[in-house]
Amino acid sequence: MTEVDVAIIGYDLTGKVLAEQLLSAGHRVAVVDRYAEARPRSRAVEYDHEIKRMFYAMGLADEVDKISRPMGHFTWYSATWQVLHDFDESRPSISGGPSGFFLDQHALERILEDRLTRHEHLVRRLGFEALAVEERGDHAEITLAPFDQDAATTSAEKPRLLTARFVVGADGAASITRAAIGSEWRDFGGDQDWLVVDVEPTAPNLDLPDAAQWCNPARPTRLLPAGVKNRRWEFMVLPGENPEGLARPEAVWRLLSDWMTPDDGVLLQHDVHTFQTRLARGWRRGRLLIAGQAAHLLPPVSGQGMSSDLRDVWMLSWLLDRVLKGTSPDTLLDSYEPARAPHVEALIQASLKVDELLCMTDPASAAGRDASLLRGERPPQVKPPDLSGGLLRDKDPVAGRLMPHDKVGAHRLDDLTGRAFALLLRPGAQIIPAQEKRLAALGVVPITAHEGRLAAVLAETGRAAILVRPDFYAYGSASDIVALPSLLDDLEAALG
Ligand SMILES: Cc1cc2nc3c(=O)[nH]c(=O)nc-3n(C[C@H](O)[C@H](O)[C@H](O)COP(=O)(O)OP(=O)(O)OC[C@H]3O[C@@H](n4cnc5c(N)ncnc54)[C@H](O)[C@@H]3O)c2cc1C
Repeated sequence: MTEVDVAIIGYDLTGKVLAEQLLSAGHRVAVVDRYAEARPRSRAVEYDHEIKRMFYAMGLADEVDKISRPMGHFTWYSATWQVLHDFDESRPSISGGPSGFFLDQHALERILEDRLTRHEHLVRRLGFEALAVEERGDHAEITLAPFDQDAATTSAEKPRLLTARFVVGADGAASITRAAIGSEWRDFGGDQDWLVVDVEPTAPNLDLPDAAQWCNPARPTRLLPAGVKNRRWEFMVLPGENPEGLARPEAVWRLLSDWMTPDDGVLLQHDVHTFQTRLARGWRRGRLLIAGQAAHLLPPVSGQGMSSDLRDVWMLSWLLDRVLKGTSPDTLLDSYEPARAPHVEALIQASLKVDELLCMTDPASAAGRDASLLRGERPPQVKPPDLSGGLLRDKDPVAGRLMPHDKVGAHRLDDLTGRAFALLLRPGAQIIPAQEKRLAALGVVPITAHEGRLAAVLAETGRAAILVRPDFYAYGSASDIVALPSLLDDLEAALG
């Protein structure tokens, strides 16, 4: 018998959300991290509506709302502050509410930590470095040693072992789990140094755009809200510049002087980060899996780093849940990478195109870009695609599509379904008692959609029924109710 069902290396955002989901499903979980506590650092500030839906489903809506600022307009400006393009992100998304939100990642980590303290059975190995991770036939094993945070060294004390049925590496860019799997780490190029500055404004009414890209070839710069009150600036480090010199407070205030002075706010973070773009090929080997930054690094211009990390674990948690409960064989986990990797790659490719356009440092090229945008040319945008692989019904017109969210009568759809499959039914599409029994056995919750976005998606696709996975994506559909048994046959076979 292993100590836990799942050991997660890395107790940052990805590790925390996965731990919470597995614990909520009743599994035994251990978390391992070098650091005993989350460190305040400048990290993610953006997430999208799909992730907001996850927070709702986790019962964290109120807490996360308090630290989130809904997106308004994202505007691209020329060097002389002419509007080159304006994206209205406040328009309603398919989940309800705007398409995205700003927050401070550290505040989110505190909310998750608070939630996790409720799970008294969580095994915490915090302040421990995972030195090695290996598969051992019927279990996996992590070798741990105490980590000295101040000296940033591991102790020479005798290492100890942690055993688990599965190990998930949520251990970031330098993942040892990825190395143990033997994954290829594809480099999409374009590594860039950026100075990331977080400020707590103290002066009222600073004249700042909501969210903006200043397409100034002299120094491409992004300005974003960092939660409800704070602000983020990202300044490109130019070729030949000394990153350390640029990150000194006096240099930072010089860069900020277009917008504010030291009398107007407090510097919270000001560090140079090398933004990389990477994607692992090989997300699973037997009992070892990776998720989040261990599996991919997206350029910040995508605004999709954190959202992609959390999509990984939202999917992986229900797949692992079925395997751990024995309702599906472990081959179900092979559907994880084919679903997630192409999704991330599409975001990477779109981000690289946007990045190329926004980060021009050659004045002539920048002038050409400005002219075409001012003529009304539509710039590329980074939008999450549908799923193209994984556990999807073959040749189904709706399979892989992210399904909308809405109320069903007085209830929220996700509150009715929890983390089960949902069968959205067109009004009048009656299921017979024998089918009801079958749905219950498969753990599928039938929902008749009379109105709103759920009824609209059935009408738009012309389907009588859409089977929605626990991660909000459509598995498949039926054109009429007579075709429902065949849809359920396919699901049953796919789940194994
Ligand atoms: C400067 C910066 C800006 C960013 N901005 C954005 C943004 O605007 N929008 C966005 O969506 N995303 C952004 N991101 C990404 C975002 O921060 C991540 O999505 C988020 O941190 C989740 O990452 P993770 O948990 O997968 O990995 P990480 O945050 O890298 O955490 C990995 C954890 O694993 C631990 N660990 C690693 N190896 C070991 C080991 N061997 N033993 C024990 N512990 C180990 C580490 O201590 C760490 O706690 C940004 C990241 C950075 C660095």
